[in-house]
Amino acid sequence: MNSDCIFCRIAAGEIPCAKIYESEEILAFLDIAPVNKGHALLIPKRHHENFFDLPDEIAGVLLADLKRVGAAVMAATKADGLNLGMNNYEAAGQLVMHAHFHLIPRFLDDGLNHWGQKSYESQDEMNAFAEKIRSSLA
Ligand code: AMP
Ligand code: ZN
Repeated sequence: MNSDCIFCRIAAGEIPCAKIYESEEILAFLDIAPVNKGHALLIPKRHHENFFDLPDEIAGVLLADLKRVGAAVMAATKADGLNLGMNNYEAAGQLVMHAHFHLIPRFLDDGLNHWGQKSYESQDEMNAFAEKIRSSLA
């Protein structure tokens, strides 16, 4: 437990949350500033900063619960779709440095736009990126 971490404090029951689901290792609750109403967060109770810090067994449990809670969010909000997202590191928009998935119900008419996309200069440049990533696989 990291007492400077708001999600650790929520997991410990020190700060209230609108709880959806809890197991020994995982907690799901509503995001206080939803993209759409019903926007939920799924976290490991133990403090791990981001996805890459998660032990594999916790990542596995988290993904199984993501599927279950995601289906419940969709059903309860009668959503047309669901964005599952995770911001890792400041550059990706992570504000709370305790790993968490966002489950965001989406509606055909919700007016939200996806982020912009870029293009590669050439097929060679695209292939070079694929090769760099392939050779970085651990
Ligand atoms: P991120 O940018 O991925 O780190 O997102 C952190 C999320 O946590 C934001 O969407 C916030 O609205 C949400 N959040 C921050 N504090 C609380 C809180 N006390 N209860 C519920 N959600 C929170
Ligand atoms: Zn924490």
